[in-house]
Amino acid sequence: MNGIDLSAIRKRFGETEVVKGLDLTIAEGEFLVILGPSGCGKSTLLRLIAGLEDVTQGRIRIGGRDVTHEEPGRRGCAMVFQNYALYPHMTVAGNMAYGLKVAGVPRRERAERVARIAGMLELGALLDRRPHELSGGQRQRVAMGRAMIRSPRVFLFDEPLSNLDAKLRAQLRLDIKRLHRDLGTTSVFVTHDQLEAMTMADRMVVMNGGRIEQAGTPQEIYRRPATRFVAGFIGAPA
Ligand code: ADP
Ligand code: MG
Repeated sequence: MNGIDLSAIRKRFGETEVVKGLDLTIAEGEFLVILGPSGCGKSTLLRLIAGLEDVTQGRIRIGGRDVTHEEPGRRGCAMVFQNYALYPHMTVAGNMAYGLKVAGVPRRERAERVARIAGMLELGALLDRRPHELSGGQRQRVAMGRAMIRSPRVFLFDEPLSNLDAKLRAQLRLDIKRLHRDLGTTSVFVTHDQLEAMTMADRMVVMNGGRIEQAGTPQEIYRRPATRFVAGFIGAPA
């Protein structure tokens, strides 16, 4: 019961409308990629789903339940950002367990969950290190671990790989897809990188200027771009 349903979503900041009436249904267990140029409203859309911003208009349902006015902590979404701010004074294990500690999960269960998630992310040997002793890719894995550990219903990724070099990006793309499958979550992955979108998406949405230009599988969009913008942006034959 982790599907997401967005209906007629609008978001204004002052006079400026940045999401302009957006309808989107994301199936339970789907890995949906939102692709679009900088400034088109991708981060805003994720923040609306997570509840970090309030919609100006429209309705958001997760797992069939209306969460439009639900506070972020009760929506079951975990978000991974580009700038994975870890707590510098805490170990990897401490960083991962922090949210559980705050939520009052007992020490023993925290340790079990940290061990399990660390295993999935190949962080088992690094649990006692501090962030400054890790590579960029390892830090991003810890940030993912921290998001995963509370067993979210929905995973929201906001360009989590853009600060990493090409080799790490390729590795983490695989890691993220594997985690998505293993955990059975619904994932929404935002990027401005066409290749990343085409290689990761079950289905993708091309956004431009606060609107959806086209939704479909990567093959459908590449073979039959619906608009000139889409053709230009993904480099497909128009
Ligand atoms: P993207 O993630 O696709 O680059 P954003 O969602 O970050 O785009 O931003 C979309 C537009 O909304 C941009 O023009 C941005 O300047 C504006 N915007 C985003 N957040 C705010 C805010 N809190 N206040 C005012 N304008 C904002
Ligand atoms: Mg953004």
